[in-house]
Amino acid sequence: MNGYRLSAPMEVDASAYDACVQCCGKSDGITKTGQRAIPWYTVAVDPDVIPLGTKVYVPAFGRVFEAQDIGGKIRGRRMDFFLPDHESAVSFGRRPVRVFLLAGPEAKLPGTANGTMVWAQTRSQR
Ligand SMILES: [Zn+2]
Repeated sequence: MNGYRLSAPMEVDASAYDACVQCCGKSDGITKTGQRAIPWYTVAVDPDVIPLGTKVYVPAFGRVFEAQDIGGKIRGRRMDFFLPDHESAVSFGRRPVRVFLLAGPEAKLPGTANGTMVWAQTRSQR
């Protein structure tokens, strides 16, 4: 994590998906940002809450993901992790996961003050 600053930890409601038609309605594996989704790296977020391109550190997985995709049901404090196959995605289920947003020297995160993430209001809270 050298060179990065971590946000305060935050709990998100996590689920998983893969590139199959069942999960995506298409199977080309191309994300909203136009990149090919990478298993255990691509994560779908609500871009109103987390800007696309943000790096997301997930200690439980020991990995850093990048916010590269969005989803119709991914709103507010939801994250959808891209996994290699449908079986993995289904067995992942839905669970709370603690994440940190990474801010590099150049990175700008909205709603942050002194390294503390302030969540934008989600639609359901309005
Ligand atoms: Zn699937």
